[in-house]
Amino acid sequence: MAAQPYRTVVDRIDILSYNVRCFRLRLAEPTHLPFEAGQFVIVHVPKNGAVVKRAYSIASPPHEEGVVEICLQHVDGGAASTFFWQLKTGSPVTLSGPHGRFVLKQPLTYEPIFMATGTGVAPLRSMIHHLFHLHATQPVRLFFGCRYEHGTLFEAEFRTLASLRHNFQYVPIVSRPKEWQGEVGHVQDAFRKYITDFTNKEIYICGWLEVVKAVAHDLRAYGVQPGQIHYEEWS
Ligand SMILES: Cc1cc2nc3c(=O)[nH]c(=O)nc-3n(C[C@H](O)[C@H](O)[C@H](O)COP(=O)(O)OP(=O)(O)OC[C@H]3O[C@@H](n4cnc5c(N)ncnc54)[C@H](O)[C@@H]3O)c2cc1C
Repeated sequence: MAAQPYRTVVDRIDILSYNVRCFRLRLAEPTHLPFEAGQFVIVHVPKNGAVVKRAYSIASPPHEEGVVEICLQHVDGGAASTFFWQLKTGSPVTLSGPHGRFVLKQPLTYEPIFMATGTGVAPLRSMIHHLFHLHATQPVRLFFGCRYEHGTLFEAEFRTLASLRHNFQYVPIVSRPKEWQGEVGHVQDAFRKYITDFTNKEIYICGWLEVVKAVAHDLRAYGVQPGQIHYEEWS
């Protein structure tokens, strides 16, 4: 059965870094899109009189009713990138969904560890906000890798959350630092400094195929069981 199409309008556009924007889409018809944190939508992109479809993870949590936020990294000449970068507040966008099985394992009795690079943080942001909406009391950790310090998306938001929630640990990691004072290197290496016992942990990884493959490979080498690793690969 084809997924239901949704008509939305652009509610807000946030510039997150030099090449990443977050598009807040307000649902116009139907006005409610039920989804689970971690799922993605398919955006219908008009191109030369036809429609091309692209997948985008939902960055907002399910309890924010009536809106869907997606974060796009600009790709030169990309169909969706070209379309989104000319949108303004009020512009129409059609999407369908939700899709995907990259969702939180139930019951939520374990300690989730989130690992992402770049826009791969989008579905993890949805999961993290969902967990705190449910008043999670267990440790919740985010290891977020970026190439440059100005590329740490949602930096202020995650730092604020960490200051408000004693059980949320936010560890940004930069691989090509200039004046960065924090962790340096790759997410899987920094992770190893913080987590040595994998008991009762479930690890969620999202990002481009090669990065996810490399992180999952290293985690298994550290002794993390394959069943504890959950991932969404973008290709
Ligand atoms: C389940 C899923 C969820 C996804 N979620 C997100 C998300 O939240 N945010 C996001 O930004 N993307 C996400 N993607 C990727 C997204 O679907 C598109 O592939 C991406 O945005 C490029 O689309 P485009 O139309 O702009 O470029 P295209 O027209 O598809 O590509 C134009 C050219 O750029 C190349 N190209 C495509 N991507 C890249 C890249 N990253 N780096 C360098 N060259 C590239 C292509 O090979 C092609 O030559 C997701 C993919 C999947 C499968």
